[in-house]
Amino acid sequence: MATISDPERTAGGAILLDGNRLRDETVASIASRIMSVGSPAICLATVLVGSDGPSGVYVRMKHRKATEAGMVSRGVELPDSATQAEVEQAVAALVDDPTVHGILVQLPLPGHLDPEPVLALLPPAKDVDGLTDRSLGRLVRDLPGHVPCTPLGVMRLIEAYGIPTAGRRAVVVGRSTLVGLPQVLLLGRRGVDATVTLAHSRTADLIDVCRTADIIVAAAGQARMIGVDHVKPGATVIDVGVSRSEQGIVGDVDFDAVQAVAGAITPMPGGTGPMTIACLLENTLAAAAMQGVAI
Ligand code: NDP
Repeated sequence: MATISDPERTAGGAILLDGNRLRDETVASIASRIMSVGSPAICLATVLVGSDGPSGVYVRMKHRKATEAGMVSRGVELPDSATQAEVEQAVAALVDDPTVHGILVQLPLPGHLDPEPVLALLPPAKDVDGLTDRSLGRLVRDLPGHVPCTPLGVMRLIEAYGIPTAGRRAVVVGRSTLVGLPQVLLLGRRGVDATVTLAHSRTADLIDVCRTADIIVAAAGQARMIGVDHVKPGATVIDVGVSRSEQGIVGDVDFDAVQAVAGAITPMPGGTGPMTIACLLENTLAAAAMQGVAI
């Protein structure tokens, strides 16, 4: 696991939890591991349906980083008009292909498609996004399996920058199965040992709740909702939310204000986004090992 011993600091003195840097170190370490065992072909396959702008950008970035990590990547693209059966056939073919180790179905699918039967086709070993009910069930039961990439990326930042968690209070804002819920499980796991509060849109007195936290993970998708009043001096503030505005991508955290009181903070962009991709590659490497590649 990569560790960062000489962190950059923000103007206000907070440690900058630099996701680009940690992603690059993770990609380099996966590349050297694959090379050290004779460069077996470890394959990540993506399924992209339709022409939604951001999804295409995310998928291209995943392929680029997979290649940099020494993996083989395969992209299956289907048109906006693809039927449920066509998408399911494309995923089933990848499931049956022994040369494919990890499969990522880029979400959201176009509105006329139901993602649930598509995701249900993925066996846990190939589900490198960790989003199927079987993968999430394994996480709940603490069994081996793939963990969703975004909350895993948050944990990798916490570990690499040496942020203490045992006995500390964490508040996760957002309760989706993609981010918030698995984040709560990961922070509360034995060995991580934070005491975790799950906040959501019905939480009363969110400022007071957040001010109890040593670690805040903001995953609500509400631009700059976490301000200086939410943050106890010295707390670690991790921004997952992504909102698109005229000024570009904006996180859930008011970075300029909060960096002056936080002990550590992620930039947005450049924090949790790159770590999501790093963890996708980490999961793909683990997927190959689960499927018998000597890695
Ligand atoms: P969802 O919309 O599924 O969930 C948002 C959650 O935030 C809900 O639980 C909702 O509460 C809660 N919430 C909304 N508004 C508030 C509020 N004002 N106060 C407190 N809680 C609130 O989103 P996702 O979990 O899928 O994604 C969250 C954000 O993370 C999005 O901006 C998304 O784009 C981003 N994202 C970023 C990634 C990255 O790599 N950085 C990867 C994946 C997602 P309730 O349940 O009550 O409705």
